[in-house]
Amino acid sequence: LKRAKQTKKFELFSSDNLDRALHRFSLETDLRRALERDELELHYQPLIDLESGKLNGFEALARWNHPLLGMVSPLDFIPVAEESGLIVPLGRWVLQKASATIALWERESGSDLPIRVSVNLSAVQLLRDDVPSAVEHAIKAAGIDGDRLTLELTESAFVDDPEGAKTVLDALKALNTNLAMDDFGTGYSNLAYLQKLPIDVLKIDRSFVSDMLANKDNRAIVSTILSLASALGMKTTAEGIETQAVSDELKGLGCTNGQGYYYARPLTADAAYEFLSARKASATN
Ligand code: C2E
Ligand code: MG
Ligand code: MG
Ligand code: MG
Repeated sequence: LKRAKQTKKFELFSSDNLDRALHRFSLETDLRRALERDELELHYQPLIDLESGKLNGFEALARWNHPLLGMVSPLDFIPVAEESGLIVPLGRWVLQKASATIALWERESGSDLPIRVSVNLSAVQLLRDDVPSAVEHAIKAAGIDGDRLTLELTESAFVDDPEGAKTVLDALKALNTNLAMDDFGTGYSNLAYLQKLPIDVLKIDRSFVSDMLANKDNRAIVSTILSLASALGMKTTAEGIETQAVSDELKGLGCTNGQGYYYARPLTADAAYEFLSARKASATN
């Protein structure tokens, strides 16, 4: 590092690049270990049926409880996992953990109400892993029906190889899972192609939803996506609902599900189970 100051050639090593590379390197090494040591967790954010106000399921969101850094956001470690290939074992872990949790909650609550959990699939994971076989393995190991899982994909999964992606989606539908297009509206939207895919739900990105009452353009985008979904026979979930006013507006526009801090933040598994039990009790009263 001293030499870095002396010659231009070594300057590279004192640059931000190196910092970033080292940071990434240690994150990657740590992440590999985290998977082995069970430092990853899933938190669960409620999805609310806007018409009835009832709980309609949860989205599983990965968290890394790092021994030194504390809770690391998936926005920081999912890209590292994608670049290193760790997304394959990580993605399998998420599928298994979510499936096992569904089975546990259904057993503990002793109810015949189905519990549904959405799991995020990365585009890189879809390219690198045999995701249908990973899903099949996870649901069989947990003893749940595929219908309990919703798999969230992003448009980026379809850019390079739409035909290949369709084959994968068809295989996932054959397992009886539900498919959702996540962050809809932020990416490359080939509408002609969307119609050919077996997608059940469009998830409207938070960047359009949160300020839709103040921002006319965003309100127009949200309402256009809702019409499109309705025309294509798809359900809708709006994410990033932070106020009752936005919740009411979306209900009026016919959006199926709502997700956001207004209802609940992502909860630990225990807190999510409490949320579920409380809702179930009020539903039967
Ligand atoms: P996403 O799938 O679009 O998930 C929604 C994100 O919005 C979550 O962030 C959630 O905490 C946040 N959110 C929900 N409601 C509100 C709200 O009202 N206000 C605000 N400000 N934020 C809200 P999170 O948990 O940080 O996850 C970020 C992204 O990381 C996810 O975006 C998803 O793309 C990715 N991710 C999370 N878990 C996994 C995973 O297990 N596998 C993969 N491949 N990606 C994951
Ligand atoms: Mg998602
Ligand atoms: Mg989303
Ligand atoms: Mg999003």
